[in-house]
Amino acid sequence: MSMTSIAFIGLGNMGGPMAANLAKAGHEVTATDLSIGAIDRAVEAGCKRGDSVADAVKDADVVVTMLPAGAHVRSVYTEGYGVLANAKEGALLIDSSTIDVDSARAVISTATDKGFAMVDAPVSGGVAAATGGTLTFMVGGDDEAFARARPVLEAMGKNIFHAGAAGNGQVAKICNNMLLGISMIGTCEAFNLAEKLGLDAQTFFDISSTASGQCWSMTSYCPAPGPVPNAPSNRDYQPGFAAGMMLKDMRLAQEAAHKAKASTPLGAQSEALYALMEAAGKDNLDFSGIMKLVRGDL
Ligand code: NAD
Repeated sequence: MSMTSIAFIGLGNMGGPMAANLAKAGHEVTATDLSIGAIDRAVEAGCKRGDSVADAVKDADVVVTMLPAGAHVRSVYTEGYGVLANAKEGALLIDSSTIDVDSARAVISTATDKGFAMVDAPVSGGVAAATGGTLTFMVGGDDEAFARARPVLEAMGKNIFHAGAAGNGQVAKICNNMLLGISMIGTCEAFNLAEKLGLDAQTFFDISSTASGQCWSMTSYCPAPGPVPNAPSNRDYQPGFAAGMMLKDMRLAQEAAHKAKASTPLGAQSEALYALMEAAGKDNLDFSGIMKLVRGDL
């Protein structure tokens, strides 16, 4: 796409490399963060320095945010120092943070009332995908906003999905990760039981990965060491995708499930198990490290 003036707010583990990829694609990116060090790194990667949110957004056609949680997103968009009070009329706003569905819908509603186009566009894929520009974006918002966002997202990702109306990107993200969190625990239980009954991990993998127990947690990310050489289980569960981040997404899913009165008994149980990893101080391990908990050696 042609060069666009983009403000990028939130230059952490994910936002830093995402902003760099936008600059690499030829956009004029003004980057800002609460951390001066993070801004310095973005400038080294080809971005312009934004001294504040207001300074970064004032001339931008597009604003991208990549912040920790819903409270940060509400503040950065709706407070006086923030995006809505200082961005150009009609600017396109893209929030790629993983946040609660209610905050996403509330902020988008306020933004659209003020005449902005806005989408929620959370990502799947970790720091490696952010760096490589191969993220998956799950986007919620109207058709016109999605059409405007797509070329910007393409500079940072490989798969761009329109999940429906505002907030549906977050819905897709937490439902997918709830399923992943549950399926990982089921996979751990199966491999642990097989081993206890005298069936080795490789043989069980060969059988189950071509039978009806097959799932991504097994074939791409096997929590038992051996069958999938590049899985975190072969490097003592160094992440990958940390258990603490999985726990964040499981909590968001449970919060949404309570509000929607959706019954998610396995989601609730899985959240409790990842919380035990956190309580044991092991939430920095990969989420497949829940194998250690299942084996009783956490
Ligand atoms: P991070 O904590 O590394 O980065 C967040 C950045 O936001 C920090 O640099 C912080 O200083 C900045 N920030 C906070 N408040 C701010 C404000 N008011 N103004 C300006 N900057 C502010 O987090 P991360 O790992 O980059 O994750 C960002 C989001 O992406 C989270 O919602 C996370 O759940 C989601 N996510 C992360 C991963 C991952 O693997 N790290 C994968 C998928 C999704």
